[in-house]
Amino acid sequence: MTRVVVVTTGGTIATSTDADGVARPTHGGTDLLSTAGTANRRVVDLLALDSSEIGPPEWQLIGGAVAAAIGDGAHGVVVTHGTDTMEETALWLDLVHHGPEPVVLTGAMRSADSPDADGPGNLRDALAVAGDPRAEGTGVTVCMAGTVWQPLGLTKTGSGFTGVAIGAASPDGVVLDGVKRRPSFAGGLAEAPPRVDVVATYAGSDAVALDACVAAGARGVVLEAMGSGNAGPDVVDGVRRATARGVTVVVSTRVPGARVSARYGPGLALAEAGAVPVPVLGTPQARVLLMAALAAGADVGDVFTEWA
Ligand code: ASP
Repeated sequence: MTRVVVVTTGGTIATSTDADGVARPTHGGTDLLSTAGTANRRVVDLLALDSSEIGPPEWQLIGGAVAAAIGDGAHGVVVTHGTDTMEETALWLDLVHHGPEPVVLTGAMRSADSPDADGPGNLRDALAVAGDPRAEGTGVTVCMAGTVWQPLGLTKTGSGFTGVAIGAASPDGVVLDGVKRRPSFAGGLAEAPPRVDVVATYAGSDAVALDACVAAGARGVVLEAMGSGNAGPDVVDGVRRATARGVTVVVSTRVPGARVSARYGPGLALAEAGAVPVPVLGTPQARVLLMAALAAGADVGDVFTEWA
């Protein structure tokens, strides 16, 4: 039988609701597997966190647990994870896991103690994908509600996820009908993810937040600009100050689905101040990609032209 290891990190898939009506992760992997009717797998109970509490140090822990499981002979790994930051963890893992072994992230939109909990079905699907020889070579994917997503471009919505679907999952395994884009850096990532902050823009915003991020030691900033990548003059001045100090600034947009390009005066001013456009990738994943590009010592303009 194919060896699939389950690494748990918390999230709604593992929550029960306490007396105050608050959902908190309480279930470990053995519980999750038994509810899903799929006992008899090796479990690594790594974390029990809401995924809003997961960040770069935890990405490295999760990446380490995945690598250790594979090093120990696993043919595939399932990572259970909250949905709030699944798009960030999935992309980071995709950037550091270079092998062919399937690493499948899954979670749930409804608590484990809800009468219509979706976690058990998602876990069954994810286990089937991770153990299916047809998934060999896919590396990291996200499996939710019967859809297999590539990490790059994945975004949480109010009802699930949107992004690039590359296949369908069921307890029988996976049917792949798409080609996965898998960003990678030839020389690998030389260092841990550096500090990269996100700065929001809004009507009348100034550069106080941007200057504070630079003062806090950010190596990069994702400026979530307006429309097709525009911001007011105070923000443009802040970008100029940041780039002059060697901080990399990339420009995403607060408008879902909009494409960033310097086609208005303020967008051009941002480009002239040294900011790099993020064509379509959402802000959270633009941050992950920028962290990886900086950690790899890659040319950020090239990386964002190719992958973002
Ligand atoms: N707050 C939860 C989490 O991200 C939401 C979920 O898992 O769906 O951990």
